[in-house]
Amino acid sequence: MAINHTYNALLKLRHVQQTYASGQRRFTAVQDVNLTIYEGEFVALLGPSGCGKSTLLRIITGLQRPSKGTVLYREQPVNGVNPHATIVFQSFALFPWLSVFENVDLALKARGIPSNVRAARTTDLIDRVGLNGFETAYPRELSGGMRQKVGFARAMAVEPELLCLDEPFSALDVLSAESLRSELMELWTGGGIPTKAILMVSHNIEEAVFMADRIVVMDKEPGRIVAEVKVGLQHPRQRKSEAFQKVMDRVYSILAGQTEPETIELGVAPGEQGRTRSLPNVTITDLAGLLEQLSELPENRFDIYRLPHELGVNSDHLLSLTEAAEILGFVYVEKGDITLTSLGETFAEASIQARKEIFAARIRRVPLMRWLMTMLNNSENRALNWDIIYDALESEFPEGDAEKQLDILIDWGRHAELISYNDDKALVYLKTPS
Ligand code: ADP
Ligand code: MG
Repeated sequence: MAINHTYNALLKLRHVQQTYASGQRRFTAVQDVNLTIYEGEFVALLGPSGCGKSTLLRIITGLQRPSKGTVLYREQPVNGVNPHATIVFQSFALFPWLSVFENVDLALKARGIPSNVRAARTTDLIDRVGLNGFETAYPRELSGGMRQKVGFARAMAVEPELLCLDEPFSALDVLSAESLRSELMELWTGGGIPTKAILMVSHNIEEAVFMADRIVVMDKEPGRIVAEVKVGLQHPRQRKSEAFQKVMDRVYSILAGQTEPETIELGVAPGEQGRTRSLPNVTITDLAGLLEQLSELPENRFDIYRLPHELGVNSDHLLSLTEAAEILGFVYVEKGDITLTSLGETFAEASIQARKEIFAARIRRVPLMRWLMTMLNNSENRALNWDIIYDALESEFPEGDAEKQLDILIDWGRHAELISYNDDKALVYLKTPS
């Protein structure tokens, strides 16, 4: 919680709806959004791409009027651009022909700040974002991280009460993003800026948990708020701490629990009535690669038959990967189009450890894995000989497939840190209590 929390509502959205035209048809981009932002709060807006996050920011700052509903700022209706709110975009909107100094100075000039005090203010702002020495540099001479710092300095020149950030770190390399996050948190928690509240759009769970006091989770089709999570951890936050991971897990489980169509037939466990679905022969590293590549494509839906060409992979291998992704709920395939689910998108963005956790949660649902884990759990020392599992699987799969299936189970299970395998003794162990 930031130090200056006073529980005064700064901004209220009431029953906000936004429809857009797409060709002949209108669709609801944002449906019935109710949200209050209080003074002293850092709120993160999290959700898959296309769920209407940027739309909401434009509505909040008054750049756009919603189709329905009301926007109140300090209880007053917002008509036209809200002078108390500013957006920082991900795409460093700087004037390329102006120097760093001139870019920041211009923002002060636009506010009618007299020229005799502007120079000192501009220099101070540039200092505060850590760019002193670069006053005379031009945007093209700066790294992405430095350009984004100029963007922050410009936004702060406006001294907005409500600072809105639209995925401010997503276009930066990992290191610049990380240092800029820390600098922003220092300014915010140290009271180094007059800003009363921050609203940051993100599709990165870890980033949201690292920075925000409250996370508002959205889903798409139609874009809407599905949950809110209070973070309640002291700054600076330790990503590896148990409390931090707990909050991450909660947010994951909300995203994972979002109602994606369950079209996929998972089959039954061995020994049960019905067919046991075999697992596609892919490694989790390749699967992660596919999800990453899908998340970088410009479209949400992608024609599956164009993928081999687009991604440069063999089409048989791609079909296996797609099947694995579908079984685990990372993608949704319909009418020849593949779409990343919210979970798939989250996975693609997540850190290695977080990926393991998501993956583990998902493969526990797969009947074959559930069966193996139950067998191990009921065995002495929670371990079984490879041969015994193999024998049990032989009756389930065609000749030669049982061995492959067991290999895949062990490979996936090890990756998720659910089971381990001792090569010398040919023993499969259960790692975590289930
Ligand atoms: P997000 O920022 O969460 O990715 P956006 O607010 O950009 O989502 O978009 C929400 C949905 O509305 C998307 O389907 C997008 O294509 C659509 N959309 C956004 N702006 C417009 C617009 N000006 N006209 C038509 N459709 C739009
Ligand atoms: Mg957006």
